Amino acid sequence: MIRILSVLGLFAAMLAVSVTTQVVTATKAHADGCYTWNRTLSEGASGEDVRQLQIRVAGYPGYGKHLATDSSYGPATKAAVGEFQKAYGLVADGIAGQATFNKIYELQDDDCTPIHFTYAELDDGCGGSGWDGGPLSAAATKANALQTMWQLEALRHALGDRPITVTSGFRSIPCNRSVGGASNSQHLYGRSADLVGTPTLCALAKQARYHGFGGILGPGFSGHNDHTHLDIRTSNYWAAPSCGI
Ligand code: ZN
Repeated sequence: MIRILSVLGLFAAMLAVSVTTQVVTATKAHADGCYTWNRTLSEGASGEDVRQLQIRVAGYPGYGKHLATDSSYGPATKAAVGEFQKAYGLVADGIAGQATFNKIYELQDDDCTPIHFTYAELDDGCGGSGWDGGPLSAAATKANALQTMWQLEALRHALGDRPITVTSGFRSIPCNRSVGGASNSQHLYGRSADLVGTPTLCALAKQARYHGFGGILGPGFSGHNDHTHLDIRTSNYWAAPSCGI
């Protein structure tokens, strides 16, 4: 009996080693150059890991809505996670577990930008580089640009994953002045992107209403017949009369 128990004990110990090894391997496999989530997140959770998730799903707030990146996992975050999951064919339970995080890891580069957009595309619209020269700190401006890109990634995916080109993103104050931008332009804050691309400027403008863009200016609005302007302000100002908006 003692011998049987000790054999069982040894077996259990081997199992434990094997399980431990698997856990370590799994953790390594999921490590990400940008950010790694270490727990399942659901309604009621709060913290920096929630805020990092909110940035990634900010493009899924529902029509005309805007997701707050406030580190608090409330009903709006649950709904946005559900829409993100639906968009990528995952179980849409509004709970961010490993499958959801794995999809995000697939979608993000090591610098935390979504794979189809880059900081270089979004920074100084007058050909310079960097995030200085606006009303906000460079760090705050860059953070706005990051969220803008995640919302653009959602828009791009919804339109069939066809290329979208950003022709102007952040503008420093002198840059904005030189291109004749409005004195309070969202471009100054890193919150904007002017777009061209497939399928049409109107399709971009119309679809953007579902992805958290408060500012949508397109064809038929003064100065916007050759691009669609989107920005992530949190009140809606939509005008693209030629598109029926
Ligand atoms: Zn613009």
